[in-house]
Amino acid sequence: MYFIKYIIETFLRFLPFPRKTGLIKIGSPGRNSPVFLTCNFDLTVEKVKREIRGLDAYLLIANSRGINVWCGAAGGRFTNHDVISVLKTSGIENLIEHRTVILPQLSAVGIQPDIIYQKTGWRAVFGPVYAKDILKYINDGNKKTESMRKVGFGFFDRLEVAVQWAFPISIISAVILAFLWQKMIVPSVSIAWAVSLIVFLSFPLYSRYMNPKKGSKRFAVFDFGRGGIMIIFWVFIMLCILLYSLLLSKFDLGLYLGWGIVSLIVVLIIFIDLAGSTPVYKGGLHKENLLQVILDKKRCRGTGVCEDVCPRNCFEVDRKNHIAKMPRIDLCEQCSACIVQCPSNALRFKILDGRFIHPETIRKYKLNLVGKRIVNIK
Ligand code: SF4
Ligand code: SF4
Repeated sequence: MYFIKYIIETFLRFLPFPRKTGLIKIGSPGRNSPVFLTCNFDLTVEKVKREIRGLDAYLLIANSRGINVWCGAAGGRFTNHDVISVLKTSGIENLIEHRTVILPQLSAVGIQPDIIYQKTGWRAVFGPVYAKDILKYINDGNKKTESMRKVGFGFFDRLEVAVQWAFPISIISAVILAFLWQKMIVPSVSIAWAVSLIVFLSFPLYSRYMNPKKGSKRFAVFDFGRGGIMIIFWVFIMLCILLYSLLLSKFDLGLYLGWGIVSLIVVLIIFIDLAGSTPVYKGGLHKENLLQVILDKKRCRGTGVCEDVCPRNCFEVDRKNHIAKMPRIDLCEQCSACIVQCPSNALRFKILDGRFIHPETIRKYKLNLVGKRIVNIK
């Protein structure tokens, strides 16, 4: 059943899949069992349930409008209010002695533990990024290792994203071509799948060129800029098709041009926001894709919260001198979690013209999904 759900929801991943909110018992939880909370994106709930099967625990499902944790919290769809609501209405308060709830780390872009505590008396802590690390996290006494804090873009993540793109593109193109150019239906579906799989599965080979902060890139004497990668992909695909048709002695110029047009369209669609389809770079569609995280050393008290919530491991905290450092800030993908969570407002975004975005602005407006993050700069 899970496998079928996983396949269907992966193919239709661009749609929200809301799950009923409330409380789920895992095993036989007692009055001191851990309490986890996650969003109500169906696949996330299933994954968390599977990963904590060996525990006796409570799992709270908060309303995120059927969106995953990171996008929901960053886009203002998974909020403090949703966490407070499920804590207050699920009945969990009558079932346990303690008042600690473990949230997914990626919710730190939108959920504020200080507000949850003020409104409910619950202490919210950020657990690991991935559900697969929850058991180890609990067994180690709620301690997160460096690898539990970081987002990755492994083979299966890339495969899921490739499917997420290929499926709707192939369906839409097949429907359009059914009216316009039936001969190209099979090529367009094949191209959609081939391009998506090639682009995402080979991501580690070219990912460094996707960083918007690094500007355009040169190859030999040519300056392709960031967009140049898409041309390289397109040429590569066209050469593969040419080689294939020549080897089979089936070269047909008209058909080859058709493949060329279809593959160019597919490549352009996928590259519209390729960086934004990954968890490691900021989407190029956002106007403010060159925000810089700035640390005000005079305000920093060395709490280490930034280090705990950063999914790119940009921070290191000198606990002896009570000060944060940002040795890997070039990896920052501008999620804003550190800024939202810093208890002394020591972190903020600097925009290109030198002005700053106040942390309260980020807390209030979140990183909404249409990229209008720069509002009311103070
Ligand atoms: S969260 Fe803020 S105060 Fe704490 S170490 Fe980081 S920058 Fe300093
Ligand atoms: S340093 Fe960048 S990636 Fe890390 S938490 Fe802050 S904004 Fe997010």
